[in-house]
Amino acid sequence: MHEIGLAEAILEAVEKRAAGRPVSRAKIRAGALLRVVEPSMDQAFQLVTEGTVAEGAAIDLVVIPARLTCRACGHDGSTLDPLAVCPSCGGGDVDVTGGDELVLESIETTETRDVPGNPGGDRGDPPRSA
Ligand SMILES: [Zn+2]
Repeated sequence: MHEIGLAEAILEAVEKRAAGRPVSRAKIRAGALLRVVEPSMDQAFQLVTEGTVAEGAAIDLVVIPARLTCRACGHDGSTLDPLAVCPSCGGGDVDVTGGDELVLESIETTETRDVPGNPGGDRGDPPRSA
């Protein structure tokens, strides 16, 4: 599975940035040429993060378009399709550059805090009427 290797690379970056804090969400930018889709990326991430600080973390996947340059007509644009043909002339003689990056943009951590009790509401069992 192609996504597993990518998920492992992401996990490595996440763990570095989290520095031991539990991670609830990771935002990732992936180039279009990596051909990752969120459901399979998410699945792979859940697999590799088992037992790590990122276990159960959600993924936000943003796909970065690649740059497409047509050698036939000179069209210059961007594409999300790694096998794209020129949208201008329909030719297949195109250069697709970029779009192969994998970047961890940000993470969210769940900071565990002591939540002060509510004196009015935290009184154990509710009184029972006998
Ligand atoms: Zn063209």
